[in-house]
Amino acid sequence: MGSVEAPPAPLRVFFIPFFATGHMIPLVDIARLFAARGVDSTVLVTPANAALIQATVDAAADSGLPIRTLIYPFPSSESGLPPGVENISALPPSESYKIDVATPFVRPAHDRLLRLHRPDAVVADVHFPWTTFVARDLGVPRFTFQALGLFPVCMMNSLFTNLPHLAVAGDDVPFLVPNLPHPIHMVRRELPDFLRGNTQIGAAMDDIGAAESGSLGVVVNSFVEMESAYAEYYYKTCNMRSWFVGPVALAAAGQGSSLATRGGDDPIAAANRARCLSWLDAKEPKSVVYVCFGSWSQFTGEQLREMALGLEVAGHPFLWVVRDGGDEWMPEGFEQRVEGRGLVVRGWAPQVAILAHAAVGGFVTHCGWNSVLEGVSAGLPMVTWPLSTEQFMNEKLVVGVLRVGVRAAEGPGSTLEEEKAVVDAAELARAVGRVMDSGEEAEGMKRRARESGKTARAAVKEGGSSHKGLSDLIEEIRAWHTFSHPSSKMMAHGALSSVNSSSSMSPERCHRSCLLADLTPTHLSSPGGRPESLGSPRRIE
Ligand code: UDP
Repeated sequence: MGSVEAPPAPLRVFFIPFFATGHMIPLVDIARLFAARGVDSTVLVTPANAALIQATVDAAADSGLPIRTLIYPFPSSESGLPPGVENISALPPSESYKIDVATPFVRPAHDRLLRLHRPDAVVADVHFPWTTFVARDLGVPRFTFQALGLFPVCMMNSLFTNLPHLAVAGDDVPFLVPNLPHPIHMVRRELPDFLRGNTQIGAAMDDIGAAESGSLGVVVNSFVEMESAYAEYYYKTCNMRSWFVGPVALAAAGQGSSLATRGGDDPIAAANRARCLSWLDAKEPKSVVYVCFGSWSQFTGEQLREMALGLEVAGHPFLWVVRDGGDEWMPEGFEQRVEGRGLVVRGWAPQVAILAHAAVGGFVTHCGWNSVLEGVSAGLPMVTWPLSTEQFMNEKLVVGVLRVGVRAAEGPGSTLEEEKAVVDAAELARAVGRVMDSGEEAEGMKRRARESGKTARAAVKEGGSSHKGLSDLIEEIRAWHTFSHPSSKMMAHGALSSVNSSSSMSPERCHRSCLLADLTPTHLSSPGGRPESLGSPRRIE
């Protein structure tokens, strides 16, 4: 009798999300997608951030997917941040840079965990350039996770290369972003702060660039039908490959857990979930405007007041997520006047489930990349109200390229708090009307939005472009280990500067005693030298 060959061991991939909810949610979705294809997936995360994703990971593990979290300490004492402050959403926007300042201190922990567990591949957020060098030492491929689409990434690359924003006479003077597939104009005020001044992330750009060029490519939460011209541009200008695997919120729906717990499953989020969805159930199809500004934006009281009045005047039912505490800004009698028609939700709302609800007909968004993609996926027209980072660039995609949205304010905005003009109630009401009312403009936007939604949904289905993008990506990792010799892999990885590995790392705590042994190198090595699985799914501390 011939011997029966053992099936190949499953690939083991580590995912390392940055300390921002908008970066963590999509990378956890991607880890779930890998796990659903049989890849043993581990998400490296710090304790307070684990709370945001653990329910999602546990539900996926409960459904049989090989996925878990591996917890490592956040460098609170090194960075001077109070214990538990581990995410930009835990700080006011003006202090979010403190998370960037803390970020380099996690390098030793990443370095140690990767060397200890020796995964077959690493998918790390762009904020963690050092993971490229560890991967090179280990002889495994490292992929960059871009929490942004390639549209804004290419815009930023063009700006960094050509510096058109430095050639204009003033902050409000429009300039063309050179060489892009579409003629996009910006003003300096609307650029990310790291292009306007000397921030931590701006200073880290050289490291990030070096790390990216040492990566095999980027994993993008987008779909090729929306951004193919930018993938080509990116390849041409940066010599970097990209794998489109999104919209991941759509792709990960049903992969081991409900989307309802995405990003939050504390009691307030759970109560909001039930309240929002049952409130929407009682509304007419396509009648409700959903208003939400992401996971960390904040407004002045004056702006919130105008927003309330604008939504009231617009006359459509609205579901409005307010992150800011207090209600001194609320106009007198507002709640009584909009009772039954408007729902104000504090804290975390189940955004993807809301956008997919039949009652929702439009989306007022700050244009965070995830929100843009989720709005597109839901086939909804949008009112764009960018606030910071690259959001004004994403707005160009929504309004100028896809033509599925209108701006909340006509005048130029600003990424700087002190330069922002208040968007008044009448302006907002007008913009909401332009996407929600009937008429040629609104109907055109609705039609294009529906078509984009259809294309997005097709992309993640079997046979679709992103479904295939994920297959190609996994195949790339498999091929690396099957066909390449470590030394040639390293050449393919690109010439990288050498790095010192630090040995001064804090020990990780083990959540379950049964997994303690799995964290020691001795137990991780099988007789054939191949590291074993981290053990049962779910969570390792
Ligand atoms: N989100 C959510 N509920 C909320 C606020 C945000 O589910 O109440 C999710 C939203 O669906 C998206 C992410 O949080 O996936 C926010 O990411 P985005 O890139 O839009 O904005 P950021 O928070 O990074 O500014």
